[in-house]
Amino acid sequence: MANSSATPMKDRIFNYLPPAMIVAVLCFWGMGPGYMVEHPGTLIATSALITITVLLLELVHERHADWRMNRQEFATDLFYVVLSATVVAWVSQKIGEEPLAAAKASLGITTQWAMNMPWVAQVALVVFVIEFGQYWMHRLMHNVGPFWLTHAPHHHLTQLNAAKGAVGNPIELVLISLSVIALFDLELTAIFAGINVLGVISTFAHANVRSDPPVFYSFVFTTIRHHSLHHSTDYLSTRCNYGNSVILFDRIFGTYREGEAAMVGQDDRRRLSIWEQTIFPFQPMLERYRARSNRKVAGNDDVANEDSNAEAAAGRPVGSGVAA
Ligand SMILES: [Zn+2]
Ligand SMILES: [Zn+2]
Repeated sequence: MANSSATPMKDRIFNYLPPAMIVAVLCFWGMGPGYMVEHPGTLIATSALITITVLLLELVHERHADWRMNRQEFATDLFYVVLSATVVAWVSQKIGEEPLAAAKASLGITTQWAMNMPWVAQVALVVFVIEFGQYWMHRLMHNVGPFWLTHAPHHHLTQLNAAKGAVGNPIELVLISLSVIALFDLELTAIFAGINVLGVISTFAHANVRSDPPVFYSFVFTTIRHHSLHHSTDYLSTRCNYGNSVILFDRIFGTYREGEAAMVGQDDRRRLSIWEQTIFPFQPMLERYRARSNRKVAGNDDVANEDSNAEAAAGRPVGSGVAA
């Protein structure tokens, strides 16, 4: 819960950690030595450092004992962090950024005005452009069946931790990473800084850390309070707070909801394995195929019956997440 003025010193320090980390990220990319900030490998290192730092903070000041890290959760999270940094990043570059950059070049689109903006404004542009796309993609996922099937595994999380933002079906991870930022001419360090700022916000927004940032932060940026409500067991609450990092978009577009949840998950809070998350979008198809095969084996060709069985099986995971 949000703390009053009688907040103990430890809580108060933790409440200011997310904004402090954003300032640190800006200082590093804005003032760091050239050989470091212009090296592409540095972004991987700083992204990992952000996740590790917040994971360690979970050990120092946890939010809920039920969300405490264990071996199984850690192994799963690590798998998805590596997957996101490798396969997902590569696919997203091939189907998103590269075609966009090629189209921009062939159409002769130039956005020199962006490059001429102050560096901090360029970082802000990166944050808001990427997040604007993510907000609408996330909202689409909660409202259109096939997209929901890719996003539903993320809502089967039964606890929240620093790297849980990377956990989900691989198709969803690619879709959510698509953005139009490649259309803008920007300083490379501003793009890297923007990505790391988003990393800090969304990592804290998924983390088991007792940190409730001050209103100057939480009015604009997503916190664990907002995002835990999005992950709650209450269906209507999951249909709000879509902003992965910028909650301001929910306030603007009318999807903001105040509150917080300690219990997260859906469908009886069933935790999915990595394999179950991977095949989840294809489950209705597989169930339909199985139902058909079973009918054939039984020698019964009653198509109406077989289809209604398949529908019932396929509808189970979808029904709890998508509005009728
Ligand atoms: Zn969602
Ligand atoms: Zn989430």
